[in-house]
Parts: sequence; structure tokens; C-alpha cells
Amino acid sequence: MATVTRAPLPTRMPPREDLNPFHIAQLQFDMAAEFLKLDPALRQLLRTPRRVLEVAVPVEMDNGQTRIFTGYRVHHNVARGPGKGGLRYHPNVSLDEVKGLAAWMSWKCATVNIPFGGAKGGVICDPKRMSKGELERMTRRYVCEILPLIGPEIDIPAPDVYTDSQTMAWIMDTYSALVGHAAPAVVTGKPISLGGSQGRKEATARGLVAVAEEACKLKRIPLRSATIAIQGFGNVGSSACRLFTERKAKVVAISDSRGGVYSGRGIDPLRACRYKDRTGTVVGMPGTSRLSNDELLALKCDILIPAALENVITLANADQVKARILIEAANGPTTPHADEVLHRRGIFAVPDILANAGGVTVSYFEWVQNRQSYSWTESEVNSQLEAIMRRAFADVVSAMQKYHAHFRQAAHILAIGRVAEAATTRGFFP
Ligand code: GLU
Repeated sequence: MATVTRAPLPTRMPPREDLNPFHIAQLQFDMAAEFLKLDPALRQLLRTPRRVLEVAVPVEMDNGQTRIFTGYRVHHNVARGPGKGGLRYHPNVSLDEVKGLAAWMSWKCATVNIPFGGAKGGVICDPKRMSKGELERMTRRYVCEILPLIGPEIDIPAPDVYTDSQTMAWIMDTYSALVGHAAPAVVTGKPISLGGSQGRKEATARGLVAVAEEACKLKRIPLRSATIAIQGFGNVGSSACRLFTERKAKVVAISDSRGGVYSGRGIDPLRACRYKDRTGTVVGMPGTSRLSNDELLALKCDILIPAALENVITLANADQVKARILIEAANGPTTPHADEVLHRRGIFAVPDILANAGGVTVSYFEWVQNRQSYSWTESEVNSQLEAIMRRAFADVVSAMQKYHAHFRQAAHILAIGRVAEAATTRGFFP
């Protein structure tokens, strides 16, 4: 059993740790709102979602029976532009998870200063146990049900956990059929053949590496030869593994939902991908030793990258993290209570709303290209992405100095300040 360490909590921190993502998003919001001294009505507005839609999604399964799935689409805030955010397929999806993730999208788009609000969608399902045909029918029917809430000027979905470019192609096709014309800008993360952007697939990882470089400079840790542990080997984790290795950093541990592997000499990203494609997991990869996800999170290394789901660093294990820098590729991997422990222990955390914003940034480029019926080269995409990520990092450092806040709080203060300014400048109609 892990020993539970309690950090000296600020007065507003609830005494008990709460793992509900929406409650966590609200707590983070309240702490930033305090720094910004936001007006109470504006506070109330920004801590609650603008619109919430719950839908029943009937799907004919391969065995001929009809199953009804529950889906959600939430618009958190649209003061700065259309809603933007991914669509998640997972058995643990809940309305509060989608509400929390939608709020984080509002702050994420504002942190990197792209003209979108925050949205998110999810369907409660187990995609690993569904056929491609079942997933296609579920996706298309979900699009029919959320139709009033999406559109190139309204809300633009994108991939998230267990959805990919094929899912986005079905969304684009269904929406286009329903409105009567091709509408590529309704969704991002599409295949290139349908107006997807060069560089979108690895954009989150590329943005992550750019902020990792900035964090290493700030903390005077050379990235070259730095040791890295990555929890989660999906699209983001595996691309990050490759990009860090190209920069001569050493990825010593990786994991997936079945467990992890360690190699002091560094893990070869290509071999790991091939092994996972063949066997469905990284566990058992030749030349590595086995370790659990918990052991990976507690590994002594320079950089720890949680790249899977929420709430993996909590009060139960925050005192065991031995990395010097934490870079959040996942959304919401660290609870606010755990974050206090990390901060007190001198671990520098680059929060999700900055660290993983590369994905939505290239989604923005994709949307711009679609609306102009034009496409950019991969090097144009990558260089604009890096510029945005590095500028956002510098903006958060400035906010940290201005407000005497720690880095995560500074990102929230910066983002919430930008959304609050847009909302108050627009004013409230009527
Ligand atoms: N799902 C990704 C995220 O959480 C991407 C969202 C998007 O591109 O709209 O940031």
C-alpha cells in the first residue's frame, strides 16, 4: 500500500481528494479566478458549461440485436470562437468527465491563443469489443443525434481516446450527407485524402516535445541524454517516444493498459511499435524487463510523461514520483491535491492545457486550410506549431512571474483571463 502524504493545503482546497474531472476542473478554475479577482457572475458563467446534450444512440450490432448507447456533447464556452474538442469512446465516459474535458478545452485553446472555445464529446462503449461496422454505425447515428450542436462555425469535433482519422471520416461523411454538401471543416483529424492536415497525427507529440525543450531550458536539464518514462503507448505516447529518441533523449520505460517495460539502454521506438502492432501490448518486448504502470510512475528519471487517462497521479502516489519534470500528454492526469505535493517536492509540472495543446493547434490549422480550400506543407505546419507552443510556454512563464503563481496555476490564470476578457468585451445579450 502506498503511504498517503498530505501537503499543507491552501484554504480553498477541499479536505478530501475528489477524482470527478468536472469537480477538478471547477476547483482549478476557482483557484485561478481568485488570482484574477473575477466578478462573481462571470465566475458562475465560466465555471459551468454553456450547453449539455445527452443522446441515446441505437445501433444494430453484428448479431442482429439493437443496443442503445449513451452519448454526450458539451459546449463549455464559446466566447472566443466555435467549440472545439475531441470525441472519446470509452466504457468510463460519463457526463461529468465530458464536462471537465470540455472546460479544459476552453482553457487549452486560450493558452495557445487560437480562436476556439471548448467542447467535448463521448460515447459510453467498449470500442475494443466492437467491430468496425458497429463502430461506424454508432458514429454515424451519434452524429445524427448531435447534429444541432456541430458545424464548421459551431463546434468542430476531433479524435480523442479510441477515436481516430477513420472515425473523423465517418463524421465528415454523415454530416455532409445530412447538410447536402461536402463539409470538411466540420471535423479535424481527418485522413489527408478528405482534407486532413499534414502533421496532424503526430501534432500532440510534436507540441509536447517543443514544450519539453523549453521546460528543460528553464530547469537547466539537458534534453540530450535526459531519461524519460512514458505512461501510455497510443498515438501520442508512441509518437513522443520516437521524437524524443530522435533528439537523443533516452526513453527508458513505456507502458500500456496491460503493463510496462524498462530498458536502461533506451527503448527503440520503431521496434516497440512493431511489437505492439503484432502482439497488442508492449509487455514482453525482447531486451526489456517488466514493470507495472505504478512502478513506471515512480521511476527515477528526468521527465515523466503520463499519456493515457485522467487521475493517474493522486494523493496515493504523488510522494513517490521521482521525475524532475512532469509533462502532461493526457488530459487531467494529476489531481489538484497531488499537484500540491509535486510542487512542494520541487517537481516542475507542465500542465495538460499547455503540454498537449499541439493537437488542437494543428486541428486549428486543418480547419483554416479547409475553409480556404488550400493545404500547407508538413514543414509549414510543423514550424507554425512549434512557434505557437514556444510562445505559449513563454506566456505562461510571464504569467507565473506576474502573479507569483506556480506553473500550472499560471497557465490557468493566463487562459481564464483571456476567456474572461473575451466574454466581458462581448457583453451579455440582450
Ligand atoms: N482530443 C484532443 C485534445 O484533447 C484534440 C482536440 C482537437 O483537436 O480538437 O486536445
